Amino acid sequence: MAYIEPAPLKDKENPFEAMMSRFHKASQILGLEEEIYNVLKNPTRQVIVSLPVTMDDGAIRVFEGYRVIHSTILGPSKGGIRFDPHVNLDEVKALAAWMTWKCAVVDIPYGGAKGGVTCNPREMSTGEIERLMRAYTQAMADVFGPDRDIPAPDMGTGPREMAWLMDQFSRIQGMTTHAVVTGKPLVMGGSLGRTEATGRGVMVSAMAAMEKLKINPYKATCAVQGFGNVGSWAANLLHERGLLVQAISDLSGAYYNEKGIDVAAATKYREVNNGSIEGFPEAQKITNEQLLTLPVDLLVPAATEDVITHSNAANIQAKLIVEGANGPTSSKADDIINEKGIVVVPDILANAGGVTVSYFEWVQNRLGYKWTADRVNRRSDRIMKDAFTNVYKTAQEYKVPMRIAAYMVAIDKVAKTYKYRGGY
Ligand code: NAD
Repeated sequence: MAYIEPAPLKDKENPFEAMMSRFHKASQILGLEEEIYNVLKNPTRQVIVSLPVTMDDGAIRVFEGYRVIHSTILGPSKGGIRFDPHVNLDEVKALAAWMTWKCAVVDIPYGGAKGGVTCNPREMSTGEIERLMRAYTQAMADVFGPDRDIPAPDMGTGPREMAWLMDQFSRIQGMTTHAVVTGKPLVMGGSLGRTEATGRGVMVSAMAAMEKLKINPYKATCAVQGFGNVGSWAANLLHERGLLVQAISDLSGAYYNEKGIDVAAATKYREVNNGSIEGFPEAQKITNEQLLTLPVDLLVPAATEDVITHSNAANIQAKLIVEGANGPTSSKADDIINEKGIVVVPDILANAGGVTVSYFEWVQNRLGYKWTADRVNRRSDRIMKDAFTNVYKTAQEYKVPMRIAAYMVAIDKVAKTYKYRGGY
């Protein structure tokens, strides 16, 4: 098989190249035909829009927005919208492809997409963010749709933004269209369990991995990088399952307590402290870099991509890494981590609880029915456990790390479906 090698990696890894390097490895082990490799590596559609928005001071500012549809082979595309100053097309392309593999790993009938706007929501008023979200939705009106492309929240966006998106899309359609977006507020078609779903899936994956590694959760320690939606839920639920959470962090820095962080108190602290844990008491302030190399059993990177790199991978002391964030480990760090014998439950498996419950939200919207939290949790836990078992078995069978095994499971499913559907 004569694949063209992915471009050589630079120091700060381009997320698209990082994704491609794993995709490439997994495709080779699977013996994927070159034609299919080429079909799967290229995004189906890339949309770039320019969004003029009137700011509160009356000035018009132009923002750049993206939506990348990586694949619609398994179904309508699905993926979040990121509002962040660092958003760029390469990042959105990588995140879109990760969504394709993620949906395939957990076996839900979606393709992959991702969107983003280069902006800093932390420096914008509520009104400015609302106008930006409505402008983005208007510009993407022919991209989105319940059977076409279904957005969701990601970094910098949440239920509030999804409500504006749903409202704007519904105005354009002339009818209320709940199923166009997931991650909505509960009162307007959101699903019970969605807010905590990604963190819950991280916990379920971590528990399954600890069972395989024979780590007793009641004697295990853990560090969580990022105390946003994913990180805070993961920390709370892991704590509930008996783990001692020794460190948490956010953009303001990391907070360490050998005897354990009071995670519930940190969550409350964040609520009254404008979403940040800056200055959290009863903990020693350390750096985010130090958090990553603490001697804990479990490390959960749940902030952003490319934090475990070839420069710090050798210093990681955790036995197990469960990736809450998308792409937290660079591809150059993979080999170092594998050589050290650290088990990694990769992002496309570990953080798939969010898209799984998003799928349930879409199903409920289409049924016009609401499930109980218990039903949502039971079904998503089962999907996460089954996906973990499937990937773990593949890893054992092919003697590959779980990351490559997860890609293999996903690529195999999408490739087989493509062959059944056929091309032109
Ligand atoms: P969020 O905005 O709620 O939280 C992000 C947190 O990370 C914040 O506490 C922020 O301060 C912190 N952070 C950002 N950059 C950091 C850095 N360099 N060092 C330390 N902390 C940093 O976002 P989220 O929804 O929790 O998403 C976190 C990650 O999980 C992202 O990679 C996202 O793509 C991924 N993810 C989210 C979901 C979801 O359902 N929200 C689903 C799957 C994957």
